[in-house]
Amino acid sequence: MAGQRMRKLRGMEIVARGGQIRRVANSLFIVQSQVGNGWYEVRWKGHWVCNCPDYLKRGVPCKHIYAVVFLSRLPEILLTNAKELSRSPRRPCDIVDMVAVQ
Ligand SMILES: [Zn+2]
Repeated sequence: MAGQRMRKLRGMEIVARGGQIRRVANSLFIVQSQVGNGWYEVRWKGHWVCNCPDYLKRGVPCKHIYAVVFLSRLPEILLTNAKELSRSPRRPCDIVDMVAVQ
């Protein structure tokens, strides 16, 4: 579903921007509204719920929920990628080859 894919991307964007998410209780996060000055509440109730208009209208995970889920998975994602960063290129010319393609 294209709409959900867009919400996931927007969620990742919120995390990448930084400072948009605060954990206020064990199962409660607030996420800054991307269009106004407010904050939305993302809460765990056996599944994630949000109080933004998009979630209330559709009842499917919104960008705020995806942002919280993505943030919670971030340490795992970073660890996986850190291994790749610390790995030496297999051949010295790898990077040169990559540049030459563009
Ligand atoms: Zn929301």
